[in-house]
Amino acid sequence: MSDSTTPAFSLEFFPPRDLAGQERLVRAAKQMLAIQPKYVSVTFGAGGSTRAGTADAVRTLRNLGCDAAPHLSCVGASRQDLRDILQAYKNEGVRRVVALRGDLPSGMGGDAGELRYANELVSFIREETGDWFHIEVAAYPEMHPQASSPSADLDHFVAKVNAGADAAITQYFFNADAYFDFVDRAQAKGVRVPIVPGIMPITNHTQLLRFSEMCGAEVPRWIRLRLAEFGDDKASIRAFGVDVVTELCQNLLDNGAPGLHFYTLNHADAPLAVWKELAV
Ligand code: FAD
Repeated sequence: MSDSTTPAFSLEFFPPRDLAGQERLVRAAKQMLAIQPKYVSVTFGAGGSTRAGTADAVRTLRNLGCDAAPHLSCVGASRQDLRDILQAYKNEGVRRVVALRGDLPSGMGGDAGELRYANELVSFIREETGDWFHIEVAAYPEMHPQASSPSADLDHFVAKVNAGADAAITQYFFNADAYFDFVDRAQAKGVRVPIVPGIMPITNHTQLLRFSEMCGAEVPRWIRLRLAEFGDDKASIRAFGVDVVTELCQNLLDNGAPGLHFYTLNHADAPLAVWKELAV
């Protein structure tokens, strides 16, 4: 994307776990190069994926010509672990990273690591590597599920930005007003970095409800009811999902969102269908 007024699209992938998954990732990424993504990112630790899996997927995507950003979470990690990972990415010429606290696997307890929150990770990355990395952090328009209040969560977000983040990607949401309200409140606290909405395509009713329950994203009642009515009719769910998500994206872009970050789940079809409908 050539100028700051053109919305920037970015794409999120997860590390494949087997050969079929690897082929799916490459296929999806190749199809989605049509969008000319500003960058792509690869999740870390989520669903049991490993550090090596993230690094491998980043390499695969960079070999396809994408600017690829690994996600890096500090939960369960020592400073030395994080230093080693950052150095390895630096040695490979990676210039972006998505910095997160992450979550310990539920019910497993264990060592929380040396850094407690994402703002400490951002500070650590800046201390260790200066301006080498462009750092993205997470934002929660509908509040992070563990936060004590929306204003406390906002303050914690502002702390991450002040620690040196260059941009933010939001948790997904289906209510655009939550995003606009969050951006207004962040800007009122002096935040000037882009806050890019994270967009979850709607393709699978059960999976959407499960993810949303875990991450605290609200699926509006009318969407849940429509999806329930479609039952196993995948084509109708898909068509409805493309309509709903396209309308959300258009509203966001028309009202000032600086870009869109698609959670692809390693499938190109739904994000591409939305992108093709957008008037940008
Ligand atoms: P933080 O910003 O540290 O916030 C976590 C919680 O702590 C919030 O409730 C916040 O309000 C609170 N908090 C922050 N600072 C303080 C403080 N000083 N005192 C008290 N409370 C505080 N997870 C993965 O495992 N792998 C991934 O690849 C991944 N990618 C993601 C990408 C995006 C765009 C998003 C939105 C989320 C992603 N997640 C991923 C999920 C994320 O790890 C979880 O939501 C995690 O619970 C919080 O991470 P965070 O970086 O937002 O944490």
